Amino acid sequence: MKTIDGSQGEGGGQILRSALALSLITGDAFRIEHIRAGRKRPGMLRQHLTAVLAAARIGGAEVSGAALHASWLEFRPRALRAGEYRFEIGSAGSVCLVLQAVLPALLMAPAASRLEIEGGTHVPFAPTWDFFSRVLVPVLRRMGAQVRVELQRPGFMPAGGGSVVVEVEPSALRPLEILERGRLCARRATAWIAHIERRIAQRELERVGRSFELTPEELCIRDARSASCPGNALTLELESEHVTELVSALGQKGRPAESVAREVVSRARRYLARQAPIGDHLADQLLIPMAIAGGGTFCTSPLSLHARTNIDVLRAFAPVEVTLRGGSERGVTVELEARAAF
Ligand code: ATP
Repeated sequence: MKTIDGSQGEGGGQILRSALALSLITGDAFRIEHIRAGRKRPGMLRQHLTAVLAAARIGGAEVSGAALHASWLEFRPRALRAGEYRFEIGSAGSVCLVLQAVLPALLMAPAASRLEIEGGTHVPFAPTWDFFSRVLVPVLRRMGAQVRVELQRPGFMPAGGGSVVVEVEPSALRPLEILERGRLCARRATAWIAHIERRIAQRELERVGRSFELTPEELCIRDARSASCPGNALTLELESEHVTELVSALGQKGRPAESVAREVVSRARRYLARQAPIGDHLADQLLIPMAIAGGGTFCTSPLSLHARTNIDVLRAFAPVEVTLRGGSERGVTVELEARAAF
């Protein structure tokens, strides 16, 4: 059994999720120690535990050590089982992060699956649902993934209670190549509000709109009346010819709308000032799909610690060769080649 050190590199929950995804794909058992040792509250939180339980059901796995706050876990998968699944995180833990652990394997399962996941869709330190559905999923589809996603209800901190549905068909992934952005073709700013004044969304959009000279058609308010608790998220989608990036910031009680807008503007400016097409978050999320596809290449800037850590976890499970080139203002080119099929 492989042993994975959960404190390596970035030291967060992604090491556990990537290990689960790779274990399901390769059929290799693993033991992980020092889970999230790099975090203030180490060990598994609800979101991580839900990912473990979800991966265990999908992989018919035998699991030891799966408990809240546990710092180690053993996971022995048997066979991938497609089907209908419903997972509840039971907090505002991120639905997108649970999907990180199980979606790659479901693409390789023998039949179609339908997943319903309840939890947070717009929560800190995780992809927003908008990022998942508008940035990651389109790239996966381009690679050949047959996946359909739907937001049924947004979920914010602290209650969560959001709900998403993901339908996946067995898919043969093709290698990906994204080395350039191409022309910027569309921009869209969206202010999500739930049980708070509409004026907050308007102030956020005014500020972002002014900074990027957006037209009224490029500004949108989405009022999430079905959400379980108040919430606010502001996103700005930057669609280029070859890739879409989406930056976001979350509002919270006591945080002025202008501060939320400022965060989005500065994230967007940072992305636009660079030439690399793949943003730092998308980079770490593409590595496992690329390994399944047998390879691929993309240019990102800068290469995040999350991505570097994910490369190390990938190497522990699969015979992959990862070459990093450059590091100039054009960015780092990541080239991945799988030496054997999964
Ligand atoms: P912890 O770090 O507390 O364990 P975690 O389980 O949330 O938390 P991380 O290891 O930090 O996990 O991984 C977070 C994942 O979410 C990474 O894949 C990262 O790229 C992604 N992510 C974080 N913020 C964003 C964002 N704003 N947009 C898109 N993706 C994001």
